[in-house]
Amino acid sequence: MAEIKETETNEPRGLNFVEQEVYSDLQAGKNGGRLNTRFPPEPNGYLHIGHAKAICMDFGVAEKFGGTCNLRFDDTNPVKEDVEYVDSIREDIHWLGFDWGDREYYASDYFPKLFDLACRLIKEGKAYVDDQSSEEIAAQKGTPTEPGTESPFRNRTPEENLDLFMRMNAGEFEEGSRVLRAKIDMASSNMHFRDPIMYRIIKHPHHRTGTTWKVYPMYDFAHGQSDYFEGVTHSICTLEFVPHRPLYDYFVDELADETYRPRQIEFNRLNITYTVMSKRKLLALVKEGLVAGWDDPRMPTICGMRRLGYTPKSIRKFIDTIGYTKYEALNSVSLLEHAVREDLNAIATRVMGVINPVKVVITNYPEDKVETVCMENNPEQEGSGTHEMPFSRELYIEREDFMENPPKKFFRLAPGSEVRLKGAYIIKCEDVVKDADGNITELHCTYDPDTLSGMPGANRKVKGTLHWVSAAHAVDAEARLYDRLFDVENPAAEPDRDFRDMLNPNSLEVRKIKVEPFVAQNAAKGAKFQFQRIGYFTPDYDSTPEHLVFNRTIGLRDTWEKEQKKK
Ligand code: ATP
Ligand code: MG
Repeated sequence: MAEIKETETNEPRGLNFVEQEVYSDLQAGKNGGRLNTRFPPEPNGYLHIGHAKAICMDFGVAEKFGGTCNLRFDDTNPVKEDVEYVDSIREDIHWLGFDWGDREYYASDYFPKLFDLACRLIKEGKAYVDDQSSEEIAAQKGTPTEPGTESPFRNRTPEENLDLFMRMNAGEFEEGSRVLRAKIDMASSNMHFRDPIMYRIIKHPHHRTGTTWKVYPMYDFAHGQSDYFEGVTHSICTLEFVPHRPLYDYFVDELADETYRPRQIEFNRLNITYTVMSKRKLLALVKEGLVAGWDDPRMPTICGMRRLGYTPKSIRKFIDTIGYTKYEALNSVSLLEHAVREDLNAIATRVMGVINPVKVVITNYPEDKVETVCMENNPEQEGSGTHEMPFSRELYIEREDFMENPPKKFFRLAPGSEVRLKGAYIIKCEDVVKDADGNITELHCTYDPDTLSGMPGANRKVKGTLHWVSAAHAVDAEARLYDRLFDVENPAAEPDRDFRDMLNPNSLEVRKIKVEPFVAQNAAKGAKFQFQRIGYFTPDYDSTPEHLVFNRTIGLRDTWEKEQKKK
């Protein structure tokens, strides 16, 4: 067999295209061989799964090549931003497993330097104050094939521009009455070069700088320079910024030299089915009470997924699986759910919970007898041990596990048929008890006393095995069963419909359930259970010892929802 040769560049295998770019810059000794990325959230909402993709990239690439990643709050719009969001963003990044050390920065830290740069550009004739409204400016933008129209204020003198800009910042003018624009080229084929707005007037106090500033920089004037001030080498962002890149470079040119300059690299945003990722829409869902909050378990937010019971490991695995490309795509939420199931299968404690209980009375079992049976905690995890579960004359099983007139291949309980109660005896249904309306209230069964583990009939085979709990010992609880928030695969692709009209009206179902005592005793925050045959559950934040509440994180199989709907 031929010897495997290292490639000429020694490039490590399996790098995505962003990592390849970073790697080759490092190999070429750019920026003195330094690698510094940043994750730049705007603190105007909670982070969602799309942000997790950016976080995994920004922190991940730095980790991979021994660089660092800054957390930079892109707080350039005081109207929408708040410290509440700053705190949640920190918590969510840490929960995902990343850390920025002492490199927590704010774009607002650079307001003085950005203001100085703006003044310099004004003095050099590269920026001017425009007295037109944003509508007038937009109307002069032109089209990709037709040049724009120059503003009548474009040729003011640097002195006049400087004076006006200072007065804008002193609060002398109303919001929207003037802007500072870069004087570049109204005929440029790149629309972003048609005298882009650098500063606007905002009189709302800023959550960090208070009322110091009355003018605030636009993204395009703030981002690249903030990267530069911070020493960022690779500014990784999403594809919609591709057309902004020449402008990014244009402003960076004002600061950088050949020893150091940041560069922008773009990858595809994450979009997943049956949800929306726009912060504006997510904020509307919260503000209008259409969900219970940012951490409503149906939300695509990191905190929502945490509350639902998703693990950081499964989110990172999902992001790793879908990878990074240079074209937009829509990823199936099933892939994310698959990663969640896989992780929970490995770590969740196996227990019994009945989510739609019907009573079983074992008529030939002694009335006051209680036995304990032993249950494996997790067959996937060596050394995870066992726990005990009480068995008695009256039990609960799942209502769906009984059918009075079953079809041919129904292997669960039916009149005259036998099933095994998992970890316990084989029972046979003898009688069905109904109320005046014909609803089944009890199933009277007999048990075969010879069929418990260790007894001669322990291995007697029957077709069905059911989960169950002992009625006298079971603990009442509430289960919240979640389904997709939207019932349209890609709500963002329906521009003619209000996203509110696409909400799934059945996205939350609340059930009164019965759980085995062990569950109640171990329902600490963050606990992960597999209710056997039903799905993965975790205690909700609303859960108390007196009133247990569980979120169904995910069904056991992908088909769970479909089966539920058929019933
Ligand atoms: P806004 O509409 O408020 O600008 P945003 O989603 O861009 O919202 P930011 O807080 O500006 O939110 O995003 C921080 C970082 O996360 C940016 O680098 C952005 O590119 C990235 N990001 C945001 N949404 C996604 C997504 N769906 N997939 C991948 N990265 C994303
Ligand atoms: Mg943004």
